[in-house]
Formats: sequence, C-alpha cells, structure tokens
Amino acid sequence: METIKQLDDTYVAHTYGRFPVELVSGSGSILKDVNGKEYIDMGSGIAVSSFGVCDSLWADAVSKQAHTLTHTSNLYYTSPCAVLARELCTRTGFKKVFYGNSGAEANECAIKAARKYASEKKGNEYYTIVTLENSFHGRTLTTLAATGQDHFHELFQPLTPGFVSVAANDIGSLREAAVKHKAAAVMIELIQGEGGVNVLNESYVKALSQFCNDEDILLIIDEVQTGNGRTGELYCCMNYDIMPDIITTAKGLGGGLPIGACLLGEKVENIFSPGDHGSTFGGNPIACAGALTVIERLTPEFLAEVKKKGEYLKQSFTGAKGVAAFAGMGLMAGIKPQGELGTIMDQLIDKGILALTAKDKLRLLPALNIPMDVLQKAVDTILCVLEANA
Ligand code: PLP
Repeated sequence: METIKQLDDTYVAHTYGRFPVELVSGSGSILKDVNGKEYIDMGSGIAVSSFGVCDSLWADAVSKQAHTLTHTSNLYYTSPCAVLARELCTRTGFKKVFYGNSGAEANECAIKAARKYASEKKGNEYYTIVTLENSFHGRTLTTLAATGQDHFHELFQPLTPGFVSVAANDIGSLREAAVKHKAAAVMIELIQGEGGVNVLNESYVKALSQFCNDEDILLIIDEVQTGNGRTGELYCCMNYDIMPDIITTAKGLGGGLPIGACLLGEKVENIFSPGDHGSTFGGNPIACAGALTVIERLTPEFLAEVKKKGEYLKQSFTGAKGVAAFAGMGLMAGIKPQGELGTIMDQLIDKGILALTAKDKLRLLPALNIPMDVLQKAVDTILCVLEANA
C-alpha cells in the first residue's frame, strides 16, 4: 500500500516543501495526524481558518447553503453574495465589492481598477504601480511583478511591465518613484507577512496616504493576510486610521473556503462596466455563506479579545530567552529566534506545535478564537524550544 506521502510525492506537483505530518482531522485550534497525535495549530492554514478548523457555525452555514443552492454563475442574483457585500461595505465605508477566489485575484482586480482609473483621469502613460521592497502580493505573473523580491522573479521573465518597488518607511523614495514613473497607484501591505512580519511605521503610512490623496494616486492596501480581524481591527488600515481607495483581501475572509475580495472605494466604485472584469467562481454562494459567518462574528468585543491575545504574545516573547526580536500586531506575530529556525520548527512539531516561518522569523497566526489556555500552552512550549536553542 502506498502511503499518502508517497502518493502525494508521485502525483502532486512539487511546488511546496511539506512538513512530515499527515493531518486527518481537527476541531478549532487542535489538529490530529494519522497516528492520532494532536497539535496546537498556530498557523491556521496561513491565516485562513479564522475560527479554527471545522468551526460549527461556519460548517453549518456552508452545509446549509450546499443543500440549498450551490454554484449558479454570475449571470444571476444570489443572496449570500449580495448580503456579504453589504456587510463588507457597511463595516468599512467602501462602496462596492468584486469577488475572486484568492488573494492574487483580489490584487489583479485592484491593479486593473487602478490602471483604468488613472488612464481615464490622467492618460494612458499613468499605469505604473509602486510597491515596496520585500513585499508579497501573489503568484500570478502580474502579482509577482508587484512583489518586491527579485528572487521570485528570476525564473519567470518577462513579468507584466509597469511595477517598481521602493524601500519601505522611506517617504522620499516613494514620492520620487511615484512622480518619475507616473504612478497610477501605490500598493502596500501594512504588515509585510511573507516578508518577515515587518510592521510599517505609522508616520510613514500617514504621509504616504496624504501624498496619494494629494496627487490623486490610488492607495491600494493588500490586506490578504492582515485583514478580517487578524490585527485586532476588522482591517489593519483601521489601526493606522487611514482610508485607502482599495482594500484587497482573501484568506481569513473565507474561514476555510477560497474567496477573494477587492473592496472599491468612492473613486473607483463604478470603474468597471460589465465585461471589464469577472470570475466564474467569484461570489460563489457556498464560499460567501461561510464568509458571512466569519465577518458577522468580528464584533468590537471579539476584536478587543484578539488585541488582548496579541498583547499577551508581545509580552511573552519580547525580551524572552532565545528571542532576538519580536514584531507583530494582534494575532500576527513574528519572532526572530537566536537559534537555528529549521531546528526550532522540527522541535516544535515534535512537541505538538504547528507554526509558520517568514524569512528568518518564526511566524504565528493562530485562529482568532483560540482559547486562552490553548494559546498559553502553545506559548509555553514555544518559549521552551526557543530557550533550548539559544
Ligand atoms: N497578498 C498577501 C499579503 C499575501 O500574504 C498573499 C499570500 O500569502 C497573497 C497576496 C496571495 O494570496 P493567494 O495565495 O490567496 O493568491
């Protein structure tokens, strides 16, 4: 009998480096492997399972929708798609939602919206999107071009033209690049997730927002990872008290099913006409029904708990033995270990903790509703492993 690992190695494209763990079931923040070993999930499927795995409210809504009306196409009206859009708009002040199925697609939509807006308002030569070095915006050829990390580009030339990246937290470089390249938009993550959990300075973000506003350059905030309650606000831009023109999101919005959303503000709410953009699965009733149960639970009281748990992470790891540095916001944390990261990850798996990495950091993105006692157990174990490797 072939093992699942052998099957996977034989038939699944080798685009991922997998850990030697075969997961078979789970509940909330606890996952179980094929041998019955339990793990605390400190990654939630890379910020996807906002309420843990197999969350019953989410599963019931998805199941009910699956027995009521499944995929219909975007040729017809369906309730979950419209109700979720209303919820997203009323909670954020944005005007319209375009649905895709992933973060990359949400960003593609934002880029198309920005290019159409700028070419109509200023002329065809205004097409460049300025992004930040060390950013991550997706794996399509266009969102790779937006990603400010050369090593992702090398094997796939030529990428979509019209992207330049500048150093983060340097407003002078950003202004210069935007003017020189006739920018249509600036696209940034407020906390670079894949780039190593790098939190942008508040003064920089405020200056950038003001500059974009003054110059009528669209500001796109990529909240694929930081969105949907992850940082203790519904969207991370609310922590910075800025109102961008476009927010893109995905991951945690779906709570476990694929969905992407591009939230369009006042300037671009009517930028698309029928035929300009689309997605067969976008706005799928099942994904939207699940997403609605996520968004509806992200109340101010719930988000205050996320902040509290984030504060607990910060206090636990800052200055602890084996920790070189801590960065993060809410339940998005990056810990630079003194020890060797690969060894630390192996030891964590051994001790029943599934975590993530981002560059040279250990990255924690637990479910937003992780119970405090489970979080404490995970933190204690991680601290032990970090100290042992110092
Ligand atoms: N943008 C950011 C900030 C991300 O973290 C990611 C994925 O990690 C993406 C975009 C791409 O999302 P997806 O993998 O759903 O296409």
